Amino acid sequence: MEFPRIVENSPFARVARLKLRARSVAMVLGQSIHLSGATREEFLQDPYWVAHEMEHIRQFQEHGRMGFLWRYLRDWARHGYYNIPFEVAAREAGERDAHLYAQGRALPTPDQRHPSPAVKSKNS
Ligand SMILES: [Zn+2]
Repeated sequence: MEFPRIVENSPFARVARLKLRARSVAMVLGQSIHLSGATREEFLQDPYWVAHEMEHIRQFQEHGRMGFLWRYLRDWARHGYYNIPFEVAAREAGERDAHLYAQGRALPTPDQRHPSPAVKSKNS
């Protein structure tokens, strides 16, 4: 599969970043990865993060744009961000597939990795 387009300084990712109170955010829209608070280089340096977003690309392909967004927002309202099934699957994929995106480098240590948004209570 061709690597998705990366959009830096995305207004969509900025909204998500403010909502999640995160320093940096990546979000998938269709076949593109939108970044806010991180450069393309910073994103690509963390293969765990890339693998996580690649799983969202796959989910988008499986469910279609509206199917994905509808389920994502419904499950966010029901379960809170951390427990959205698409996010649970993407975190698992991040751990499982990071080596695919390491480009021959050592995998980052835990403190070098992009931090996931903090676990918060339901509907936060
Ligand atoms: Zn995610």
